[in-house]
Amino acid sequence: MKVLVLGAGVVGTATAYFLAEDGHQVTVLDREPAPGLETSFANGAQISACHAKPWAAPHVPGQAFLWMFKPDAPLLFKPWRWDPPLWSWGLKFLRNCTSARLHTNMERTLRVALYSRGVLKALRQRTNIQYDQITQGILHIYRSAGEFAEGRATGVQLAAMGLPQDVLTSAECVAVEPALAHVAKGDLKGGLLSPEDESGDAQKFTTELAKLAAARGVVFRNNVTIKRIEAARGRVTRVITDNGDGRGADEKADAFVLALGSYSPHFARDLGLNLPVYPAKGYSITVEIENPAAAPTVSITDETNFMVFSRLGNKLRVAGTAELAGWNPSLDPARVEPLVRNAKSLFPAASSYAALHPWCGLRPATPDSVPILGATPYANLFLNTGHGTLGWTMACGSGRIIADLIAGRTPEIDMSGLGLDRF
Ligand SMILES: Cc1cc2nc3c(=O)[nH]c(=O)nc-3n(C[C@H](O)[C@H](O)[C@H](O)COP(=O)(O)OP(=O)(O)OC[C@H]3O[C@@H](n4cnc5c(N)ncnc54)[C@H](O)[C@@H]3O)c2cc1C
Repeated sequence: MKVLVLGAGVVGTATAYFLAEDGHQVTVLDREPAPGLETSFANGAQISACHAKPWAAPHVPGQAFLWMFKPDAPLLFKPWRWDPPLWSWGLKFLRNCTSARLHTNMERTLRVALYSRGVLKALRQRTNIQYDQITQGILHIYRSAGEFAEGRATGVQLAAMGLPQDVLTSAECVAVEPALAHVAKGDLKGGLLSPEDESGDAQKFTTELAKLAAARGVVFRNNVTIKRIEAARGRVTRVITDNGDGRGADEKADAFVLALGSYSPHFARDLGLNLPVYPAKGYSITVEIENPAAAPTVSITDETNFMVFSRLGNKLRVAGTAELAGWNPSLDPARVEPLVRNAKSLFPAASSYAALHPWCGLRPATPDSVPILGATPYANLFLNTGHGTLGWTMACGSGRIIADLIAGRTPEIDMSGLGLDRF
């Protein structure tokens, strides 16, 4: 079958790879010069099923209100801006801020994340793909007794859903990650270790996977901007592009996969589909590690400051913050500063932090933090989008699921609650 994948982020590239494993004739369209150059470029690098707790939770509306007046808040949004997509998304988000919805959304997210982690591990075994991966788990650290208690309570829920975590004392955290020794002398209250989680460079992975896909015949058409999608009689008929040279062209296929990250809703709208995906801008810095012993090896989530730390070869990646401010890819230096400050405080001797590589990307966030996977009212259009904070974690599983659906196989996990029909 001829399949057109729209978008060569980590999600689209993984989809293309699994489709190629099934023997389809696959073409991937992307406006960038190479795969993985937008949101999949410099993310937090975690394969973190442990982060399955959705953003929408009973305490969040109150907390978000207080954060509205704090420029360096971990979550920044300005509901008074003229932004109908944000208001519509925000209302759906508020509806998900109940304990019952939290539980449902956590189970759905974890279902995809655990499956995806397994698919990634199997892929790595089959292909020996290398992307600065570290398979020593993810350590969540807590600096207040209250946060630690809350983390343990979430841990109990995650364990009941299939993700066991180890509860560690402050000394045990240092045994797992010696670079935290100086923090333990201060206010480190303890940690949770999710031993099966991992880290690795999403962009490197995407690049390497694209090479493996190309070796199986996948064609990556880079520098091609998609203009719109057209349909007739319940099927997508073609995708109109600029052809990469501005002259315009149309691309036809038997099946189409929409994997355009935060930009997916713009194109779904052409077809009368309302995808509740809104960009949640996040930031990262990447620094050279100058003193390896003082830099973390295990990937760390700092639960007090909502930031993650991952070691990628001789580099340290620090990522965090979220800003709901539209499809605006510009980088605000004020939002980078908290990342630098926190990195210097947690790992002061790891780097001089002189040469920083700041970056920002638009997480394709859904109001319930669950991705949108699978069929649409159009028989030959499939959605693989809305992965929010966990697109790297969920990419392989989501790609496998879409390949299964296109092949007419039943996916290996229960698909209920993962599709567009839930909205
Ligand atoms: C700061 C930050 C930290 C993060 N940390 C983590 C983490 O630790 N772990 C984790 O699992 N996830 C993390 N994420 C989330 C993860 O990066 C995203 O969910 C994931 O990259 C989304 O992948 P995607 O392929 O859907 O989107 P993208 O990577 O954005 O891919 C979409 C592609 O569509 C293309 N495109 C868009 N419009 C057009 C058009 N008109 N024509 C042609 N092409 C187009 C783009 O060029 C792009 O390549 C983080 C995100 C951020 C911002």
